[in-house]
Amino acid sequence: MDNTALPLIRLSEYFAKYPGIGMKTAKRLAYQTMSFDIDEVEAFAKALIDVKESVHFCPICQTFTDLSICKICSDAEIGKRDMSTICVVETPKDINAIERTSEYHGVYQVLHGLISPIDGITPEKIKIKELLTRLKDSDTIEIIMATNPTVEGDATALYIAKLLKPIGIKITRLAFGLPVGGILEQTDEVTLFKALENRNVM
Ligand SMILES: [Zn+2]
Repeated sequence: MDNTALPLIRLSEYFAKYPGIGMKTAKRLAYQTMSFDIDEVEAFAKALIDVKESVHFCPICQTFTDLSICKICSDAEIGKRDMSTICVVETPKDINAIERTSEYHGVYQVLHGLISPIDGITPEKIKIKELLTRLKDSDTIEIIMATNPTVEGDATALYIAKLLKPIGIKITRLAFGLPVGGILEQTDEVTLFKALENRNVM
């Protein structure tokens, strides 16, 4: 018989919603919560609510921000970054990976997903139309497709490249000497810098 107190089970079920957390770990986290002071637990609960209440999509690049426009886009508006180059990534975390190289000075576009028909993710379900809208009256010279070198990442890059071809913008793809299936986030700065520097025209 499971003698776990009901509130602990309820909390465990929430922890188990996170990727990579099984029920066993979720229960351990729930029990661990019992060792926190009430102040800490209240701050934790408030941090969860804050994420949902104050974080939204940047209206320009679609990354997550708690500002009216994100820091990178606002730097671009005051000329601190090159607005003519847009690097297209899958997730906001990928921006941080590329920023760590300190070699990229353009702006970004976050897709929030990759096209994957098997999983029911059609082009309309990711932020491609936001990219198209953004390109309408912009002076963009180059789009760097920096989606991961996976089946979905390649398919998404190709789809967008085809879509943009008639507009006449130069479209490049990161030169992945990266391990196939490698994830930007887990790639070291040097490798990522090389992938950026040796990017190929699509
Ligand atoms: Zn932005």
